[in-house]
Amino acid sequence: MLNAQQPTPLLLIIASFDPNNNGINDYDPEHPELLYDPASPIYGEQWAISKPEDYYETFFAPNGHSLQDFYKEMTMGKFYFYPLHIDHPIYEGQPEGVIPITVPLPHPSALKHLGDYTNETAAEKCIHDIVAACDPYIDFAKYDRNGDGKITPDEVAIVIFNAGYDRATTKADESFSKVVCENGPIPSHRFMVHGTSQYNDIEMRGGVHIVKVSNVGEYNSNGPITIGTPAHELAHNEGAQDMYSRYTGPNDWIAGWPMPLNFSLMSSGNHLGEGRTPAYIDPYQRHYLGWADEIVAEEDGEYTLHSTLSGKYKTLKIPSPNPQEYFIAEIRLKEGFERNLTPGDSKGGVVFWHIDEKINEEWFTKAQCVSHNRPNGQRHDLGNAILVRNMFEEINDENGNFLHYGPCFKQKGFCEDPFFYKSDDEKTSHFDSSLYCGAASLSYSLNNFPEGVDKNWKLTVDVLDEPGETMKVRIKRG
Ligand SMILES: [Zn+2]
Repeated sequence: MLNAQQPTPLLLIIASFDPNNNGINDYDPEHPELLYDPASPIYGEQWAISKPEDYYETFFAPNGHSLQDFYKEMTMGKFYFYPLHIDHPIYEGQPEGVIPITVPLPHPSALKHLGDYTNETAAEKCIHDIVAACDPYIDFAKYDRNGDGKITPDEVAIVIFNAGYDRATTKADESFSKVVCENGPIPSHRFMVHGTSQYNDIEMRGGVHIVKVSNVGEYNSNGPITIGTPAHELAHNEGAQDMYSRYTGPNDWIAGWPMPLNFSLMSSGNHLGEGRTPAYIDPYQRHYLGWADEIVAEEDGEYTLHSTLSGKYKTLKIPSPNPQEYFIAEIRLKEGFERNLTPGDSKGGVVFWHIDEKINEEWFTKAQCVSHNRPNGQRHDLGNAILVRNMFEEINDENGNFLHYGPCFKQKGFCEDPFFYKSDDEKTSHFDSSLYCGAASLSYSLNNFPEGVDKNWKLTVDVLDEPGETMKVRIKRG
């Protein structure tokens, strides 16, 4: 686990691919096929569309919209990225923190078809050579704070913007090809990359090794890549895990599997507002990464929650009779970067989560704690489950009276008002854990009841305030 507790320099590398190494863009609109023919000397040639100046504003400017501002807001100033100093700039006036590099290789999605390369080794080779090409311009050794010979992502963070489009955020041109990552939307830039964050071993001057790098495409359908996907990949570098079902094949897919979606940067929250207004990370990881403190509600009674923009945000951990299971309460308001957290104009409020550390111990670092694949032949409950209003399918008795929720969301995407808060309608203020079940165990309130604990045990919480920067809650267990 890294120590992502102080501001960290970030290097953005814009990488162009020039396989015949002649230093010029050989794309010929009359013969675009030369870029796609593995026998061609310019197979996989792809030059960056963007310039360093395009990224400085989006990533570093203190304008309320930048990646730096996003991390400052989410961590309340504890952890954010500032531009790495370019010791030996390539050109006069080059902005800090961004460097354009050209390597004599095809784009990784082309390289994988050559020689003995695979998808993995082609990406590894490109990332290696792109980062190594930065060596003359930056004195990396001075950033090895702990002197272990490695430059880890809490010492210098690195994101490569591969020339061309980012697969996760670009509408592919399927009339050109159905092959994923080989159907970018314009003829000069057909090769795309999937955003990743991966290990490598790149030796730099002074004998230091760069060991982990994030990798995305420079463009999405709407223009230069927005901050959401890089923010997600950079969080991976600091130890965050995915909160979506990345290993679930189409045959195992269940519509409505209740993942955190909008409510985590590591689920689908990175795409909100077309990636311009990503959601914060979920409270479990916010505490895990050291970006928020927690209060533990040992006793029943009243507790005060604080919003993120108040600067006093903490998660409220609510233990249960099972030492491995607990609940988290937090305030999420639709303001700041989270203004697009849900559609419509609800204001936000309190959100509850159910954490199962037994699941997380086994699946969190394997990026499957909320997945619905069948790792050992069967599905498991979510280790980090969001318990919201208006989202779950409702189970009624024969007279049509509401009993409790089923395991899955009844709709795609997030509803307008999944929050808890005081209003004229008492249903918006009252949380009752016995309405929610484990998605695999179908067990209500807790996934596992220790011996001697009544199966009717539940947590109820009344939210005593309207949405706002401080909200009181009254907790009762039993
Ligand atoms: Zn991810």
